[in-house]
Amino acid sequence: MATPAPVVLVIEDDPQMRRVLVAALHNHGYHVVESGTAREGLAQATGRNPDVILLDLGLPDGDGLDLTRKLRPKTRVPIIVISARGQERDKLAAFDLGADDYLTKPFSLNELLARIRVALRHAMAPLGAEDAVFTVGDVRVDLGLRRVFRGTEEVHLTPTEYKLLATLVRQAGRVFTHRQLLETVWGAGQIEQTHYLRVYMAQLRHKLEPDPARPRLLVTEPGVGYRLRDE
Ligand code: CA
Repeated sequence: MATPAPVVLVIEDDPQMRRVLVAALHNHGYHVVESGTAREGLAQATGRNPDVILLDLGLPDGDGLDLTRKLRPKTRVPIIVISARGQERDKLAAFDLGADDYLTKPFSLNELLARIRVALRHAMAPLGAEDAVFTVGDVRVDLGLRRVFRGTEEVHLTPTEYKLLATLVRQAGRVFTHRQLLETVWGAGQIEQTHYLRVYMAQLRHKLEPDPARPRLLVTEPGVGYRLRDE
């Protein structure tokens, strides 16, 4: 056992929910730090150096969204929001503030554990990993060579299509909001041009998906944005 257990910070005020989460995470080999308030959670997030944060939104002394806003300038630690609020606008706000994932309560523990594994994988493969080759299904994206394959066939993408795909690939599994994708691929002046995204996403699906009308790889998060499925 050379590597220490990843540290998960659970910020959740419901004692029963917290007990269930802590027990499950312990059982799966994680080291757990827990907090029932926004204030203590913020202190632990910066002081205890967690590998992942599970964050409830409704906390007695504040809102998880405010906590995300405060944390993001200080740390890139993955934040998985766990909330009973399932509205698109709550998700959108969380992702725009820099949350990495969002689970609406009630969720299954298996689902949560899967999301934690994805978040940890991202954290260990930082954004600049340009030599990485990403494979999902029969699609292979070579970020070093800037080439894309479906099976053995090379897929020819326009520079913008490639930039959009590469952005999603570098953090596969993570949800990007429309705004984040427009800003990254087209630039900060274009964040209102959501039709660009629709057009280019349709082109990418046409080139990469077996059935572009039922995408399995380039997945829509309704009202929020897109994610590249990575399993
Ligand atoms: Ca709560």
